Amino acid sequence: MSTLKAVRGTRDLLPPETELWNHIEATARRVFARYNFGEIRTPIFEDTSLFARGVGEETDIVSKEMYTWEDRARAQSEKSQSLTLRPENTAGVVRAYIEHKLGETGLLQKLFYIGPQFRRERPQKGRYRQFWQIGAEVIGPPSAGSESPLRDAEVIEMLATLLDELGIVGWKLEINSVGSSADRARYVAALREALAPVKDRMCEDNQRRAETNPLRVLDSKDAGDQEIIDGLPKIAEYLDAESTENFRQVLAALNACAVPYTVNPRLVRGLDYYTRTTFEFTHGGLGAQNALLGGGRYDGLSEVLGGPKAPGIGFAMGEDRLVLTLQAQAAEAKAALADAFVAPLGEGLNAEALKLARELRGAGLRVELGDGGFRLKKSFEMGNKLARKIVLLGEDELSSGMLTVKDFATGEQVKIARTNLTEALR
Ligand code: AMP
Repeated sequence: MSTLKAVRGTRDLLPPETELWNHIEATARRVFARYNFGEIRTPIFEDTSLFARGVGEETDIVSKEMYTWEDRARAQSEKSQSLTLRPENTAGVVRAYIEHKLGETGLLQKLFYIGPQFRRERPQKGRYRQFWQIGAEVIGPPSAGSESPLRDAEVIEMLATLLDELGIVGWKLEINSVGSSADRARYVAALREALAPVKDRMCEDNQRRAETNPLRVLDSKDAGDQEIIDGLPKIAEYLDAESTENFRQVLAALNACAVPYTVNPRLVRGLDYYTRTTFEFTHGGLGAQNALLGGGRYDGLSEVLGGPKAPGIGFAMGEDRLVLTLQAQAAEAKAALADAFVAPLGEGLNAEALKLARELRGAGLRVELGDGGFRLKKSFEMGNKLARKIVLLGEDELSSGMLTVKDFATGEQVKIARTNLTEALR
C-alpha cells in the first residue's frame, strides 16, 4: 500500500517549531489587549456567496483559488448549499458584525482573529494552501469615529509595535491612498487612456488586465513592462481635496509616532468597497513572497453584504511568514561571528580579561573570551573561527592602556586606546 502524506500545500507543525507559533500568538494577543481588541472566532466554512460578494468575483481568490463544494441536503427540510473553506477572514467578521447587530451598540468594534485560511495557490516557500492569518478589524457606525484617519494610523502603529515586539528586524511599511470610489473611477478612466496606445507592447497578462481591470496592471512584476508602468499616471493626482487631506492626516499621525513608511503609488486594490488607506508590511528575507501582511480601509463592505453603513479598517498578517522570518533571523544570529575575541596573554591576566569582556558586553558588543593558558597561536586560530577581530591583553597593554587589535578580514593590526575600543570594534 502506498503511504499517505499530508496534501500538497498543507503541512504538519511539530515541536519544537510549534513553540515559536505559540510565542507569536501569545505576543499578538498581548499587544491586541493593550489596544483593547477582543477575540472573534468565525466558522472555517461559510456560504460561498459571502466570499463572492465580500472578496469580489473578479479577484484571483474567488475566481480560481477557493475550496468550494456542494453540501447535499440530509433531510427534506434542508436545502443543498454551496459552501467554501474561508480564503480570508474579513468577510466572515463583517458578516458576524451584521448578523449580531454589533453596530447597534453605537461603539467601535475592535476584533482580532487567529486561524487557518485556505486558498488553492501554487505552493512555494511562504505560500501554502492552508496557511494561518492573524488579523484584526476596527468597524462601526460613523458616529463612533470609524471613518477617522486616526483609526488607520492607530492600526498601523499597533502593527509596527507588534512586529518590533516579536523581534522582526528590518520590516518595511508601504502605504498609499486609493481615495473614494469616485476618485478611483476617474483614475481608472485615466489609466485606460494612458494604456491604450502602449498596451500592445506589454505582456499578455497585462494586455488582458488593461482591458478588464487596469488597476491590476500596477501590481505586475513583469520585468519588461516596468518602464511603461512607471510612466503611468499616479493615483495621488486623482484624489479629491477630502481624500488628500485624509491621507495627509494618516501620515501626520505616523510621523508623530516616528513610524517609518514609504508611499508606494502602485499599492492599490481593485474593488469598489476598498477606500482610502492601503498598506503592506514587507520583509526582504522572505524572497519572492515578501509580504508579511496587508491591510486597508473598506468603507463600503458592510453595505455590499446587506448590512448598515459601517466603515472599517483591518489587516491580515501571514503567521507562516512571521515564523519563516524569525527562524531565518535566529539561524543568521547563530552563524554570525562575534565582534571580538579577547585573548589574555598569560594566566595572570585572566581576571583582567574577564573585566575587559564585561566592559565590551556592557556596551552591547558580542564577545568571546579566550584563556591565558592558550598559546598565542591557539588564541589566533580560535579567534579567527569565532570573531571578526582579536584583542590582545598583556602586561604592556594593561599598563599603557593601549590594546593590540587585529582584524582577521584585512589582516591589519593596530594599537587602540582602551577608551576608544568599543567604537573601534563596532
Ligand atoms: P491577503 O489576505 O491576500 O491580503 O494576505 C494577507 C497576508 O496573508 C499576506 O501578506 C501573507 O503574509 C499572508 N498570505 C496570503 N496568502 C498566503 C498563502 N497562500 N500562504 C501563506 N501566507 C499567505
